[in-house]
Amino acid sequence: ELKGNTLIVVLGASGDLAKKKTFPALFGLYRNGFLPNDIKIVGYARTKMDHEEYIKRVKSYIKTPIKEMEEQLGQFVGLCSYISGQYDQDEPFIHLRKHMEELEGDREERNRVFYMALPPSVFISVSEHLKRNCYPEKGITRLIVEKPFGKDLSSSRKLQKALEPIWKEDELFRIDHYLGKEMVKNILVLRFGNEFFGATWNRNHIHNVQISFKEPFGTEGRGGYFDEFGIIRDVMQNHLLQVLTLLAMERPMSFSAEDIRDEKVRVLRACPAVEPKNVIIGQYKKSLDGSKPGYKDDDTVPEDSRCPTFCAMACFIKNERWDGVPFILKAGKALNEQKTEIRIQFRDVTSGIFKDIPRNELVIRVQPNESVYIKMNSKQPGLSMNTVVTELDLTYRRRFSDLKIPEAYESLILDALKGDHSNFVRDDELDASWRIFTPLLHYLDEHEEITPMEYPYGSRGPLVLDEFTASYGYRFSDPKTYQWTQSASS
Ligand code: NAP
Ligand code: NAP
Repeated sequence: ELKGNTLIVVLGASGDLAKKKTFPALFGLYRNGFLPNDIKIVGYARTKMDHEEYIKRVKSYIKTPIKEMEEQLGQFVGLCSYISGQYDQDEPFIHLRKHMEELEGDREERNRVFYMALPPSVFISVSEHLKRNCYPEKGITRLIVEKPFGKDLSSSRKLQKALEPIWKEDELFRIDHYLGKEMVKNILVLRFGNEFFGATWNRNHIHNVQISFKEPFGTEGRGGYFDEFGIIRDVMQNHLLQVLTLLAMERPMSFSAEDIRDEKVRVLRACPAVEPKNVIIGQYKKSLDGSKPGYKDDDTVPEDSRCPTFCAMACFIKNERWDGVPFILKAGKALNEQKTEIRIQFRDVTSGIFKDIPRNELVIRVQPNESVYIKMNSKQPGLSMNTVVTELDLTYRRRFSDLKIPEAYESLILDALKGDHSNFVRDDELDASWRIFTPLLHYLDEHEEITPMEYPYGSRGPLVLDEFTASYGYRFSDPKTYQWTQSASS
């Protein structure tokens, strides 16, 4: 663990990620006392800025709704400094080293955490220059890396090969920010800490699983970046697959990083490549009322783009626990709501005494409004023997008073400072995950005749979606059979 004498260097400090996530997370950790003593934070990017300008910029990244936070922000920026330089020359990195040495004084042990908030195009060059010019002789060095980790199996391996001789696997922290989310971290506790889930967590009791990611907005001017990747690379190969892995893996020997990651790799290896016949893709067009633009109306998107902004696919796991159970992954932009949720639909109860009784469903709402609920059949109170769908409901906000859920990035940066790899992606895990998706991605790239189905901005996705999920056995019950009454349970 890094107790003191630590420097965090944010490379790409002028960029969008630094602004939206990295600096707010560092400030969140600082004000809650989680950063090591003597911490100093150095920004690095090409943009020329003097100290005052830089501090003004950092301050503008961070919201301070209460007065106390304003004072804390004043102290926080006292730890910050900035160096401007190119990403492909030694000289500015030597300058960076001298600056770090000045901040560190004459200590022998120099702990340095490099956070690469940079586009992938400069990633290898920066990591080489850091190693050559900024790697301390004594102390702990860590490199935090952001997605995308390649675009397919071969580019991911190429990146990995370029890094391997320079950085040791235990110095690398590959971020998948879904692994920092409170509810995603809860999956292992729910599964392995509750006998009633543990005992039913298999193909004998579970009929199908859905993992859904829905965003209510489109690319909004950042389509250029998105168009190169598409929703499958952007969300499914990484975030949703991570959720699937945690849902499907076997019980790890311990909560240690390597025990967890060993099990994750094992289950990924039991997952064959996704077959195109189990996939539908979509692209959003204008909203029905015409007020919201279609994907191709974004000026940064090519007019003939076939890039999917929506995808639903079924994955299967060929092992004893899961054989035959579809894991349906759904992800889309410009949909009707914001939501990430896991929906586990159990099998039908034995028929006979009941007619058409709905299936149990366990829903884990990752965001927003974190909750875990089970839709459960119960007797309608009163003189009849009618049944009614009710719920066992854990709504975080209601259950935990004074609830403070840390931002995923706060949790992950803290883990990286502590050297805990549990919630970061290991090299073989990355390899296994690309292997599942690469044949599909190549198939879609190569077959120009395959065009995504259109869906209006603000809808639930392409019209065939419900037919698609039904074909894997997901049974949607009439919403009239289940009414959730928030007030009754509070
Ligand atoms: P960005 O704003 O485009 O780039 C970060 C900084 O890198 C820029 O401020 C710029 O700084 C420099 N830069 C930009 N384009 C460059 C180029 N072509 N060549 C050299 N330098 C360039 O990127 P970002 O959105 O912060 O994302 C950084 C990394 O995090 C990416 O790998 C991205 O995929 C990942 N990520 C981002 C988000 C997000 O919310 N933005 C979320 C998850 C992951 P200077 O010009 O000052 O050098
Ligand atoms: P729901 O949220 O209405 O969603 C049911 C599922 O069916 C979703 O996967 C949805 O897909 C899909 N679906 C929607 N319309 C469909 C259609 N016409 N055909 C086929 N599939 C369809 O169901 P619910 O779990 O019964 O919950 C009902 C409401 O109660 C929700 O608003 C829920 O948030 C609320 N609730 C909240 C809590 C809590 O916060 N603690 C507890 C219980 C219930 P898409 O995701 O693709 O749209």
